[in-house]
Formats: sequence, structure tokens, C-alpha cells
Amino acid sequence: MTSPWSLAGARQPLPASDRETSGALRALEHEILERVATGRPLAEVMELLCRRVEAIDPGVICSVLAVDRLGRLRHLAGPSLPEHYRAAIDGLATGPSAGSCGTSAFLGQPVVVSDIAVDPLWADYRDLALPVGLRACWSSPIKSSTGRVIGTFALYRRTPGGPEPIDREIVASCLHHCAIAIEHEEARRRISELAFRDALTGLSNRTCFQAEAEQALRIVADGHGGVAIHYIDLDDFKIVNDTLGHRVGDQLLGEAARRLLACVGSGETVARLGGDEFAIIQSAVAGRKDVEALAARIVAAFGAPFDIEENRVRVGASIGIAMAPDDGCDLVAILRKADLALYEAKGQGRGCARFFTPEIDAALQRRRVLEHDLRTATEARAFELRFQPIVDLGRGNTVAVEALLRWQHPVRGSVSPAEFIAVAEDTGLIEEIGEWVLHEACRAAIAWRPEVKVSVNLSWRQFRRGGLMADIMGALERTGLPPERLELEITESVFLSNSAAVGETLRDLRRMGVGIVLDDFGTGYSSLSYLRTFPFSKIKIDRSFIADLVFRPDCAAIVRAVIALARDLGIRTTAEGVETEEQLDLLREEGCIEGQGYLFGRPMTAADVTTLFGLASQQPVARAFAANDGPRLALGGARAS
Ligand code: C2E
Ligand code: MG
Ligand code: MG
Repeated sequence: MTSPWSLAGARQPLPASDRETSGALRALEHEILERVATGRPLAEVMELLCRRVEAIDPGVICSVLAVDRLGRLRHLAGPSLPEHYRAAIDGLATGPSAGSCGTSAFLGQPVVVSDIAVDPLWADYRDLALPVGLRACWSSPIKSSTGRVIGTFALYRRTPGGPEPIDREIVASCLHHCAIAIEHEEARRRISELAFRDALTGLSNRTCFQAEAEQALRIVADGHGGVAIHYIDLDDFKIVNDTLGHRVGDQLLGEAARRLLACVGSGETVARLGGDEFAIIQSAVAGRKDVEALAARIVAAFGAPFDIEENRVRVGASIGIAMAPDDGCDLVAILRKADLALYEAKGQGRGCARFFTPEIDAALQRRRVLEHDLRTATEARAFELRFQPIVDLGRGNTVAVEALLRWQHPVRGSVSPAEFIAVAEDTGLIEEIGEWVLHEACRAAIAWRPEVKVSVNLSWRQFRRGGLMADIMGALERTGLPPERLELEITESVFLSNSAAVGETLRDLRRMGVGIVLDDFGTGYSSLSYLRTFPFSKIKIDRSFIADLVFRPDCAAIVRAVIALARDLGIRTTAEGVETEEQLDLLREEGCIEGQGYLFGRPMTAADVTTLFGLASQQPVARAFAANDGPRLALGGARAS
């Protein structure tokens, strides 16, 4: 028969033997609380409780079950129940007629079944209980401090019948102990989840990753197997986050986590280290092939686009790999090496994997030092401009001057931009430096005769930021230089990012009167096609063609073709790197309009270029290079930088 099991009886005065029971239960309480407090495993504590109860109340069989978040019963302790019985109960759903425990958990009330053989609540489980001799079962819900059912506490007997007063007393006291122990365990698990899981993706977090990596490396250090650490960074994640918002960014990270998990086996740990950085610990690695295979799977997994809230985005993965024991077994060193390899992968066009090598280490060390020095230099404004004349090959006068950046390094002296521009671009420092160059170049030019232009090099990175137009206008306004006297030199690389927006900016500049020059013509992949898409004012034929002009007929043919093509398109041509008379003669024969190079003058200070080339606004043309006669090269050695 089923009836709610009132616990009021436990409060009635107790006979002498019951006083003994009370004492034993108090001792048990003490024992349980102490074990919970010292962090003993929940199953162990519950098992002890069951054994003690069975000793206090001979003839009962005690069982404790937990209820999981999905409402299923989970075996916790039942040391006197047969193994197969315990296993059969584990995972059963709670419900309105699910034995004593399942029903009690479902109703949130005590359930007394005096005879399992006849009670309808046991209809589905009778065949499980009767063969092992269980006839009666009284189960009560264990509730959390907020009233949620978190488990059941049950006493079985081998004979039919209801609970005795002693049973009631045991249940009343044990429900309390069980609640404390289970809640304590839940809290512990939540804390450890917070401490070791990444909340957004559910992957291991950095703390967990480090602990596991350390353990994996210890095994390798003891001479067993190999481990690879893959550092993974998503390409262009920042752009997605900035343009589509953090919600899309978060979903992308979640999907990225799922793709990474799908690439690994059960023995591998996938962690999110922060932002869009992930890492994988690949253990039991037999050889480099295993590692390459995993890296290839990851790169391929990120080849497919991500569809998030009606947005289709492409985000690749770059991977840096370090291996133990080959690259050492020290965690800090391995992580640094994987990071360096990642840096290399990013530099090599992204969407690829790179293994650490000692060469990477040396190159990157140098680069880090350069980066650091450059940052300091930008703050201290340790830059200077040099100026190199651009000469009209027909008339011999200086028509323009190119501003070239120099870094005055405290130890290395004057450093060429060829060495540091790329670093300045990667770090974004070029934006600040570039603004300064624009202003300084315009300031120098204002002192020159009005027909002399100043040519300033721009980096692709300056087009990425919104403020380029404002920088240019600001420089012109503050110095008073007319826009027609400014030329901007760009290379093909500026078109690679967002050619539509770049084209728009360039057209605006041309409308203002600013000249746009295609620099280093011939070195890119599709120089010719850019000539079609944008009306450049001038193209500069790259130095490499001029250098071989005299000795290599093919170079001469290219230069000739470019000059002719530009002439047909109405674009002026400048030959870069003119160093010899022979080159000059050939260029003039082919009809090249302007030349720049050591033959006319090396890059020099503003004061030198102004006086040596007679550029001062009030002065007559004094010592300009004459086309047909006179000491052409008197200026060639002037104060080289
Ligand atoms: P570029 O714009 O093609 O500049 C011409 C380079 O060729 C300069 O190197 C110049 O010194 C060198 N040069 C000129 N005539 C001769 C010659 O007869 N023989 C040889 N061998 N070389 C000659 P520099 O000053 O080292 O600049 C290298 C590159 O750095 C420049 O190439 C330009 O792309 C970049 N750069 C220079 N200044 C700036 C700047 O302010 N901003 C940006 N973004 N890039 C700059
Ligand atoms: Mg240039
Ligand atoms: Mg050039």
C-alpha cells in the first residue's frame, strides 16, 4: 500500500534502546560532516553512511541515489545491494510510477511501499527486486536548500511491512546528511567547472590546458612517447567581431570550438586560451606524420565558410606547432616555441601550419627587438626625412623630390625603411609615422620653387584606417602647400585589401589635384591591370629593370614597352635607380620622361637638396643637372644617407 510517510513519529519520546540509536546517529552525523568537510569523494561518504545505518538498524538495506539535471536516477551508494541491481537502477527516469525512489523523486514526497510484490508502483521493476529478495522499500526525497530534489534515501527490507519508529528516526537524520554531502559535491563541481572550463565554448580553459600539458610533458620526460602542442589562431577573427558584432563573434568561436573538437580523438585536449586563440595537446604521438595529419585536418576544417545569423564568413586557422621531446620537455619553452611557430605561420600567408625551427627562433628574436625599438623610436620621434631629386631627363631640371624615411637608431645609426617599414606596418605604427612623414614632407616642400613637387610614400596600412584623407588635408592645410604639389606613391599592395574603397579615396585625392604615382612598377603580379582600373598620374619603373637595362635585352624590351604604353595612356614615367650614364642615355632614347637615382643625387637632408639643386623658392635655377652638357655628376656624391 502506498501512503505519504509522515516523519512526525520521529519526535515521539524514545525508549532506552532508541536512545542508543539517537547516540549512534549523532556519532554518524559527526563522522559524515567531517568527511564532507575534508573533501572525501561523495560516493565514499555515502557508502559509509549506508554501512553505518545498516549496523544501527539490522535487517535494513540502505541505498542513496542522486537525481541528475535530466531527472534520471544515479547510483551513489548501496553497498548491500547486488551489483546488477545497482547497475539496473542507474539512469532510470523518475516518474509517477517508477518504483519507490523514482516516484518519490518525481513527487518530491516520501513513498512507502510495504510490499513490492503487489504495489502498482513497482509493476515495471518487480522482476528486478523480488528475485534478489527485496520485499519492502521506503524512499524519501533528498532536497537542496532551495527545495530542489537532488536525490533519494531508501531503506529496503526482505520482508513485507511498514517502517518502524527507528527507521523514521534514521531517515529524518540521514536526509539531512545526504543533502549536505550532495550539495557540497555540486558546488565543488561548479567551482571546478568555473576554474577549468571556458564558459563560452565549454572547452578547457588556459588553467586546465596548462595542467594537462604539464602532465603530458612529464610522461614524455620519463621516456614515454611524444606530445605535440598546436597553437591555433583564427585569421581575421577581429574583422568579423568588429564588423558583425560580438554576438556573431561569440557564435563563431563556439562553432570554431566544435570544428576543432571534431578534428581530434578522445585522447586529445582542446582548449581556448582566450580571444580567438585555441590550443590542442596531441599526446601519444608516434611521429611527425601524426602531427601533420592533425594540423592538416584543422586547416581543412576551417576551409569551409561559417554561416552565422544569415552571415557567411570565412575565417581560416593558422597553426604553430612545437613537439616534445624534440623541442624540449619544459612547458614554458614548448609554449613559447609553438607561439613563435604560429607567428611564422601568420607571417607566411595564414591558413597554414608551421613547425618550430631554431631559425624561426633567431629571426623572431631579432624581429621582436626591432619591434620594441621601433615603438620606442615612434614615441621619441627618432625619425628623419631624406630627400632625393627626381629629374626631367629632357630638360635636366628637378621636377620633384621624393621624401624617404630614415630611422636614427641609437646603436645602429641610420636604418633604411626597407628594414623596418614591414614591422611598422604589422604593428600599426606606420599610421602615426606616416602622418608625421606627410606633414614634414609638405613642410619641406613649401620652401621650394612652386613647380617642384614633393613625393610621399604611403603604405597599404594607411588606407585601412579611416583617417588618411584627414591626415593629407591636415598636412596641406597646416603647411599651406597646394594639393597640386603633392604626389603620393603607392604600390600594388594597397589594392589587395579593399580595392573599391581604395579606388574611391584615390579618385577623391585626384579630384583635389593630388598626384597618384604607381611605385615599383613591374614587381607586382598584375601591374598592367591596375593601370586600367585607376588613372595614375605617373608610374615609376622599378629599379631592378633599370639595373639590368644595359646588359639584358629582355629588361630593355620591358622598359621600352612600359614607356610606350604609359605614353599612349598619357601617364608620365620615372625610371628608378639610375646610376650610370649608359642607363641614362638608353632611357632618354626610349623616351622616358623622368629619372631618379644616385647619378643625379642620393637621398639627402632638406637643406642640402634645397641648396644643391637650387630649389629655394626665391632662387634662380643654379646647379640643376643639365641635360646635354656640363658636369652632370657633380652632385652624385652629395651627402648620402
Ligand atoms: P621606393 O619608394 O622605391 O624608394 C626608392 C628607394 O631606392 C630608396 O630606398 C632610395 O634610397 C633607393 N634608391 C634611389 N636611387 C637609387 C640608386 O641609384 N641605386 C640604388 N641602389 N638605390 C636607389 P630607401 O630610402 O631605402 O627606401 C626603400 C623603400 O622604403 C622605398 O622604396 C619605399 O617603398 C619605402 N619607404 C621609404 N620611405 C617611406 C615612407 O615614408 N613611408 C612608407 N610607407 N614607405 C617608405
Ligand atoms: Mg617611392
Ligand atoms: Mg620604388
